[in-house]
Amino acid sequence: MIAYLEHFVHGNDAESRQDDTDGDVVSSLDGLEITTATASAGKDFGGTKFSKPLAVVRPSSAVDIARAVRAAAATANLTVAARGNGHSINGQAMAHRGLVLDMRAMENHCFRFGAENGSGGLRYVDVPGGALWEDVLKRCVSQFGLAPRSWTDYLGLTVGGTLSNGGVSGQAFRYGPQTANVTEMEVVTGRGETVICSEKQNSELFFAALGGLGQFGIITRARVLLQQAPDMVRWIRVVYSEFEAYTRDAEWLVSLREGEGFDYVEGFVFVNSDDPCNGWPTVPIHPNQRFDPVRLPSNAGPVLYCLELALHYRHSHHPSTLDMEVEKLVGRLRFVEGVKFEVDVSYMEFLLRVKRVEEEAKVKGIWDAPHPWLNMFISKSNIAEFDREVFKKIIKNGVGGPILVYPLLRSKWDSRHSVMVPESSNIFYIVALLRFVPAPPKGPHAEILVAQNNAIIQLCYNRGFDFKLYLPHYNSQENWMRHFGDKWTRFIDRKANFDPLALLAPGQKIFSRIPQPLSIT
Ligand code: FAD
Repeated sequence: MIAYLEHFVHGNDAESRQDDTDGDVVSSLDGLEITTATASAGKDFGGTKFSKPLAVVRPSSAVDIARAVRAAAATANLTVAARGNGHSINGQAMAHRGLVLDMRAMENHCFRFGAENGSGGLRYVDVPGGALWEDVLKRCVSQFGLAPRSWTDYLGLTVGGTLSNGGVSGQAFRYGPQTANVTEMEVVTGRGETVICSEKQNSELFFAALGGLGQFGIITRARVLLQQAPDMVRWIRVVYSEFEAYTRDAEWLVSLREGEGFDYVEGFVFVNSDDPCNGWPTVPIHPNQRFDPVRLPSNAGPVLYCLELALHYRHSHHPSTLDMEVEKLVGRLRFVEGVKFEVDVSYMEFLLRVKRVEEEAKVKGIWDAPHPWLNMFISKSNIAEFDREVFKKIIKNGVGGPILVYPLLRSKWDSRHSVMVPESSNIFYIVALLRFVPAPPKGPHAEILVAQNNAIIQLCYNRGFDFKLYLPHYNSQENWMRHFGDKWTRFIDRKANFDPLALLAPGQKIFSRIPQPLSIT
């Protein structure tokens, strides 16, 4: 077993090596929709990594996926990457000289509604792994007035892509990440077997695949829990000059039970200036609203903080009751007096809010520019020091886009899943540097921004912070081992069990493809 593992652990050259027989694999997949026009599969949203696959397969079913995996397994070196919507930052959905499976080819398959344990149980929808969350929203709300409970901010992401990572937004404090809101999946493993899994059936694969970075199988279907969709949302932003007051209020809000608090709690850091991309103008929700800096205390620092909240309601909700409910909560918050923005929008409009940002960014040409983003989870015990050292110093002039920082609760994350979160306290913060800057010569070279990200990560290591990268990306095996800590052995065992040739998701650069089929002992 040890020799097997030594062979197996990544030496940072996990890509498929070209083999004379690779072309034969493509011809052996007759009947499948397959193309060697691979340009879009060779890049991603990050825009800094490029890699040419051998071919792109557009599967029409789990059977097609199992065929492709088995065909790759029969070669010496070929790898297979499921590609959701290619919104990774560091080439995670790529397969250099391997097969890329375009999961969106199956996005319109089997949308099926049901209820756990008969009609009285929790309602769910079965959705294809390649479906976009935006499509899940539209179908669930328009057909049944229902909606998933836990979201990402941006919905142009696939179900399989976010379930392979976590899936986090302002509802996660209550319902946990998207991975905690799935009760069953169909997965094609690296052995080419199609397996139905849940907490009770093939549970090890179920837990492994959730947050599993695509390492154990390809999610072809997921059963997503639903709740009644509200009609409307009261969407509020309040501004703080002190990080301590901001975190105190945010932590209080995420501690409230369902029905007693807001349905969505997020927040972000912005620059204390009139900079249109990083400063005051980024805070108002509606074009008619204006940020009045005169209200800020004269001793405010280089950055300010904005708590973003939302309360769901139905058309039948009486306006004065709603106002009272909101006031009861907002009245207890210690934000800068008068610096508050609110609007009422439909639930759909609220959930699709980042689509508008996408449209604007496309017009400005910054959607297709490189995005060296950094996403981290940082323990509550270290977030104040992070604020002092990173928000107020290293990125005090902003990152050209949102800098998210808001609390999550570890108790809502299932430690049996593969995703890693800080452990020293129940509260940890997501920090996301969502850089939107024009490509050179108008903006800085991506390498400079990547170096800044690395400096921030290094600072966290040097200070001994309890933190994890979210959507992790590492260049060495030591760093992957450090990331998984005492769960590394479990991760390796799961890999050996479900993808023994290390065919799957080579772009994560964790494992090297095993060149020859091995018998595992
Ligand atoms: P891809 O990038 O295509 O794939 C990601 C990884 O998952 C790859 O390793 C791939 O091989 C694997 N994979 C893809 N599909 C499957 C499948 N069906 N089965 C198994 N493995 C699979 N994340 C959040 O949590 N919250 C947010 O609010 C959020 N907002 C975002 C906004 C934008 C604009 C962007 C670009 C990203 C955002 N993300 C967010 C990150 C997002 O969750 C990841 O990029 C994720 O990878 C989903 O993207 P994707 O569907 O394009 O997957």
